[in-house]
Amino acid sequence: MAKISINLATGSIQKEEIIVGIDLGTTNSLVAFINPDKEPKVINDAGKGVLVPSIVHFGPAGEVTVGNEAKNYLLTDPQNTIFSVKRLLGRSYKDIEKHKDFFSYKVIDDDSESLVKIKVGDTFYTPIELSGMILKELKQRAEHALKTPVNRAVVTVPAYFNDSQRQATRDAGKLAGLDVLRIVNEPTAASLAYGIGLNPDETKTIAVYDLGGGTFDVSILQIQNGIFEVLATNGDTFLGGDDFDAAILDYWIKNNHLDLDTLLLYPKIMQEMRLKAEETKKMFLHQSIVNQKIGDIWCTIDRNTFEQLILPKVEQTIDCCRKALADAKLDISQIDEVVMVGGSTRTALVKRMVSEFFGRPVHDEVNPDEVVALGAAIQADILAGNRKDILLLDVTPLSLGIETMGGLMDVIIPRNSKVPTKAGRQYTTSIDGQVNMKIAVYQGERDLIKENRKLAEFDLKGIPAMPAGFPKVDINFLLNADGILKIQAIELRSGVKQEVEVKPTYGITDDQVEKMLMDSITHAKDDIAQRMLIEARTEGEQMVYTVERFIEKHGTHLSVAEVTNTQQYLKSLKEALTSGDKDLIHKNIDELNEFTRPFAERLMDQAIGTAMRGKSVE
Ligand code: ADP
Ligand code: MG
Repeated sequence: MAKISINLATGSIQKEEIIVGIDLGTTNSLVAFINPDKEPKVINDAGKGVLVPSIVHFGPAGEVTVGNEAKNYLLTDPQNTIFSVKRLLGRSYKDIEKHKDFFSYKVIDDDSESLVKIKVGDTFYTPIELSGMILKELKQRAEHALKTPVNRAVVTVPAYFNDSQRQATRDAGKLAGLDVLRIVNEPTAASLAYGIGLNPDETKTIAVYDLGGGTFDVSILQIQNGIFEVLATNGDTFLGGDDFDAAILDYWIKNNHLDLDTLLLYPKIMQEMRLKAEETKKMFLHQSIVNQKIGDIWCTIDRNTFEQLILPKVEQTIDCCRKALADAKLDISQIDEVVMVGGSTRTALVKRMVSEFFGRPVHDEVNPDEVVALGAAIQADILAGNRKDILLLDVTPLSLGIETMGGLMDVIIPRNSKVPTKAGRQYTTSIDGQVNMKIAVYQGERDLIKENRKLAEFDLKGIPAMPAGFPKVDINFLLNADGILKIQAIELRSGVKQEVEVKPTYGITDDQVEKMLMDSITHAKDDIAQRMLIEARTEGEQMVYTVERFIEKHGTHLSVAEVTNTQQYLKSLKEALTSGDKDLIHKNIDELNEFTRPFAERLMDQAIGTAMRGKSVE
């Protein structure tokens, strides 16, 4: 049954619901759509501006604001103002440990392997939830501006994002009530916005140079038959326009003989200076010298000085371009087009140096901070089937995955993946001496497997007995062009192997698929809440297991107070585990962890010390 909706903005009947394109950026996010004249347009809802700063603020009663309004709290209420959440998406604490000082809010480090969480007041948020809040704001702005419900979107991610980061982006969309039809690479979207790759007959190799607020990346893409292949990426996740602002700020401070330590005591003044520095940088587009009055101080800088200050940073980006070309095994002369992306590519010096390096004029005709969202809107239009000239490749209608701890669905091939495709992931055992592993395969979009459709189940038998966490079981999904899914499980240490085949589309109608999709959107909130509770519980149970075993083994080396207190914390954690309150569980895990860490480390050091001494005697 086809749905017909009326677009109240234009008064025309729309056969298809609008699918928007979203650029979920580290600094700024925005949404675009294809207007009735078939042109991609960015959305500026009620004149609030096109760019929505990717910042979330939590008020005293937990009230959430997103965008410019939230940005105002960056310095006055830093603990409750979350910026750059994209850097944390799909990441573990181990991934970001090096940069932990960058974040002014609390990033939780209780378990370096699992995904990071952020603590605001007494509540724990995942980067998925926070990104979901930004996406929700974009969805609402689009609905308000277009006067029609918006339920489907194409969302972009950096080319270097891994599976877990892509899945996190999909989940964030779901939380915002958006069905994410496809995750598209940012450089691919930018290229589409320039019409590069829309003609299936052309073959091209392009470089996409993306300098944003805090990140830089360059991608080399090969486009053939309308398929974009990433040949190489390079970049620096801590280099961007913010560094240019900082350079101006430093210069003003030095030139006016201001004392930095004193200034730091006045965050409001620092923030004003930083904003003025950013404003100044942008003014160099039209003027070669800028005077700013901040308080009673006149701050002056000219464009030449500015360019000298940022030259080393820009040279660094050129170095990355050189490396990307080398990785792609290409010569500069083999690059057919260069596309500029990101607000910071408006800087004249950047344009000059990139153009000089590649030896050709660069594409900068489209607004560099809008180009990704516009391209995402074009991709959305292609998916909606509105561009008949473009071939749509076959895609899987529902996600395919397996059951993990606590009855959760772990997606291996996300829905809308092009077929044929293959993907895999590594798992391990959760119990000491486990010799069999049940592998249950499901299809569907819900977080809990009990809501999804079961396709197959088998046991991988004959795993040699090892401690929990030691076996390495690779599970690979291969979906061929005929829609047949081959599931392969192999334990890498012993080589034991098992294989089954199923046809996921067998016995399911289009209507059932549609219902499953709709259900996943309507239940997204509950599902994700349940998933987070189960994850917290699994983490807590694992912690109880480990600490209890630790006390059993090493209790004699601990003081009586250490043992009794640990037991007290254990008891409290066990109670929390039955409470159904994920925040309470996390709080207890945190406390137990904090208490036991010092003596766990002490014993470890002793053990290592003994082992080392033992060695040196030999
Ligand atoms: P991201 O992709 O990281 O979310 P954007 O592409 O929106 O970021 O880029 C934001 C950066 O672009 C900011 O540092 C901003 O100061 C910078 N920027 C915006 N306009 C200009 C301009 N006219 N000149 C120089 N830099 C600019
Ligand atoms: Mg960007």
